[in-house]
Amino acid sequence: MDRRSLFLSLVRGENMVRPMATAITSPLTEELLNICGSTWPSVHRSREHMVKAALAAKQVIGFETIRVPFDQCVEAEALGVELDFEGHYPKPRTLLEKIKEFNFMGRGRTSMVLDVIGDLREAVGPGFPILGGVTGPFTLLNYLLGPAKTMLLSRRDPDLIKDYTYQLSASIANYAMEIVSAGADAIVIEDMASSPDVLNPMIFRTVEVEPLKRLTSMLNVPCILHICGDTLKILKDIPETGVKVFHVDPKTNLRVAKDLIRGVTLAGGVSTFLLLEGDEKSIVEASLSCLNLGIRIVAPACALHPKTPVENVKTMIKAVKNNPRIIGNTFRNNAGQLFSC
Ligand SMILES: [Zn+2]
Repeated sequence: MDRRSLFLSLVRGENMVRPMATAITSPLTEELLNICGSTWPSVHRSREHMVKAALAAKQVIGFETIRVPFDQCVEAEALGVELDFEGHYPKPRTLLEKIKEFNFMGRGRTSMVLDVIGDLREAVGPGFPILGGVTGPFTLLNYLLGPAKTMLLSRRDPDLIKDYTYQLSASIANYAMEIVSAGADAIVIEDMASSPDVLNPMIFRTVEVEPLKRLTSMLNVPCILHICGDTLKILKDIPETGVKVFHVDPKTNLRVAKDLIRGVTLAGGVSTFLLLEGDEKSIVEASLSCLNLGIRIVAPACALHPKTPVENVKTMIKAVKNNPRIIGNTFRNNAGQLFSC
């Protein structure tokens, strides 16, 4: 079974050969960029650098999928927000007064991202999974109007916000379809602004669940939803969005996550802080504990901290790839302990 088939079978929750270890969000670190001769601004803006870094994440670190782009501002930039490329990841430098245009195809870096995905597919061949990243409608709205105005309007005029997120969901889906045509096997929807840490779960239900459902229903590949922080209060809503995989942060109670989110595969689970500062033993323990808790695609919980040592991430990957052996529908580690998944 090639890596792409393994990934898709895990996503569908079918019988497993083994679990996987990868990065669903940005896999970049300073060390990785040094190894592949890139820099922070150019890795986001240059086709060649983006391809090189994405391949290095596979070849140097050993991640079992490839994902691009590395930032979440491609769509906002395409709709007219100017970005500041100083620092590790681009961030909005200007905001829009009003959203007049919803179509971002061919604008900003969207065409470059499609070219990058085409280059990557050519480089890795058909048997390796490529993930294309897009921004969730509510998070995109935050980038367009600014978090303060978006939050204020969410409380005062949720119908207006829902109208925006609904329209944006179709634009994101159109862009995601192009990403799939360029060679991606799955779409990662990063929706950080929907985290219950920053958004009332009631508002999430009102303004974002249906637009996410519209987005996923327009695509013919599986979607992975990433929302950071403690997502316990919205876990029950996740199956309704139509995503096949939820990328979960260990700030969420992982012991109950699997039961609350039946029918959706869990990914993620390893703290980025642990990967930054933890020792080998604690990283191995955390990675195996993810398997034990029903996470099939083990990954850093969010974008890696830029200072994360590559060796620590390799430890996570090794722990997942080498330890468990399949027995029926369960994995068994080298110590003989059973992991039912
Ligand atoms: Zn995150």
